[in-house]
Amino acid sequence: MKRILWCFMDDGIFISSNSVMDMSPLFCPVCDFVMNNASDDNYFSKYECCTDCAIRWAESNSNKWISGWRPTKKEILAEIKKRKLSPPSFQI
Ligand SMILES: [Zn+2]
Repeated sequence: MKRILWCFMDDGIFISSNSVMDMSPLFCPVCDFVMNNASDDNYFSKYECCTDCAIRWAESNSNKWISGWRPTKKEILAEIKKRKLSPPSFQI
């Protein structure tokens, strides 16, 4: 996915030709959770999803995943519910 990096300057917005780059989206296309760390970026470049979705579904079904298979909406909703019930993990 291509995103433009906007640079806000005192006298306006500046966009250079080098500011368009490959980056992961803000939200996982599978589960809609925020993608906010380097691990998410790495898994997105490989599977186009967040770390949790990659570990939960993509890696164990990599051939199917690469050919376009995705979990059902019901499976995704069950996983989201499970994630929301688990305590957050932080690295300090
Ligand atoms: Zn996800």
